[in-house]
Amino acid sequence: MTPDEFRRAGHALIDWIADYRSRMETLPVMSQVKPGEIRARFSKEPPQEGAPLEQLLAPLERDVLPGITHWNHPRFFAYFPGNATLAGVLADLTAAGLGPQGMSWQTSPAATELEEVVLDWLRQMVGLPDAFTGVIQDTASTATLVALLCARERSTDYGQTRGGLQEVKTPLAVYASDQAHSSVEKAALLAGFGRACVRAIETDADHAMRVDALAAAVQDDAAHGLKPCAVVATCGSTATTAMDPIARIAEVAKKAGAWLHVDAAMAGSAMIVPECRALWQGVEAADSLVFNPHKWLGTGMECSTYYVRDPQHLVRVMSTNPSYLRTAHEGEVKNFRDWGIQLGRRFRALKLWFLIHEQGVKGLQARIRRDLEHAQWLKAQVDATKDWERVAPVQLQTVCVRHLLPGRDGTAVDVHNQSIAQRVNASGVAYVTPAVLKGQQMIRVSIGAEGTRREHVEQVWAALQQAARA
Ligand code: PLP
Repeated sequence: MTPDEFRRAGHALIDWIADYRSRMETLPVMSQVKPGEIRARFSKEPPQEGAPLEQLLAPLERDVLPGITHWNHPRFFAYFPGNATLAGVLADLTAAGLGPQGMSWQTSPAATELEEVVLDWLRQMVGLPDAFTGVIQDTASTATLVALLCARERSTDYGQTRGGLQEVKTPLAVYASDQAHSSVEKAALLAGFGRACVRAIETDADHAMRVDALAAAVQDDAAHGLKPCAVVATCGSTATTAMDPIARIAEVAKKAGAWLHVDAAMAGSAMIVPECRALWQGVEAADSLVFNPHKWLGTGMECSTYYVRDPQHLVRVMSTNPSYLRTAHEGEVKNFRDWGIQLGRRFRALKLWFLIHEQGVKGLQARIRRDLEHAQWLKAQVDATKDWERVAPVQLQTVCVRHLLPGRDGTAVDVHNQSIAQRVNASGVAYVTPAVLKGQQMIRVSIGAEGTRREHVEQVWAALQQAARA
């Protein structure tokens, strides 16, 4: 493809994306296709001859679009928001167009230095002290794995340079609440801690970690010859956005000599509004912290920001530094290949730069505040409506609800709520997540798509009530 052919195809594709975003509201939020339906639309063999890219616009519309669940739809209330703002879309295009591989400073100095700049902007935006330095990871799952690897190495005095975990005499234990994201357990298992050494700490009525239970578990493990290695505090749990009390957890972790990692995948974005920061009080005591601008803030996938207080430790654990990767200016610059697991790195800093430039801190704050208000509005509706209950406090933008059937037992109510969510999702009107919270079926309404206005929240509430009546 020549640059001129690219210009033609690119303009056509940008037009198509812009049109798609304009008419998205008319499409069913959740894809309505059956398994295998999309695959069957494509030829089993690859095309032998090349053809102009514009020819793909028709099959994109006809064969791909029906298999898309529209995460940017204003009535997307499932999971957590995954906003791909149009600024983020253009940043991705620019990154691909420039095509650098940012593994080292030298392999594209701008990729490294812009990442340093925007991560420091973001640090200031969420009110983290300047003792923290950031790096972009692909996802929070990877960042948490990196954190636990660093914790492991600190606890074993860099055992990786000797026999690794295989020669550790004292088993190492990891602690997170029973509401922590599955990525925490996955990271602990991948980092070699073993399921027997991963503790799910009980939570309180608001689904936040019970610090007394954490302290007891740490003490019990120490008494039985285990070494407390890492505590993962969740700031905004996946089910209900519960907030573990970080300041008090930090005291327990410090006393035990354990690493404190904060998983703020969702809630971190909220901290750009100062009135939310009380929710992560004590965060400055963390050894590491992750949050996902690719969720609520809107960079588009994949942009997880990982902050650490001791980058030297991170580099020491992650660096391999073979001769063929050594470059001039070693020691003077950051080589982000040594700040995480992957070697090759895309130019993801552009996503944050474009987004923050286009929306400004004030624009982003206004959107977060708007969504917080929408959630409070929905909370008030639920609280005022007979036979509906909330199963968790509304700390941010997620409202967890349950419709009761007076005189019917728990199982019937569980099945009923599951079917309410399924009916709403199958209608295409809105997309919510059915989830089980401590054994009870509930429905999560997670607000925060960029295009969601009050009328859309009213519509999902009406759809839920209608499905409950049906
Ligand atoms: N942590 C929490 C609290 C989450 O809610 C999620 C995903 O929703 C994750 C971690 C995993 O995020 P990622 O998809 O970036 O790995």
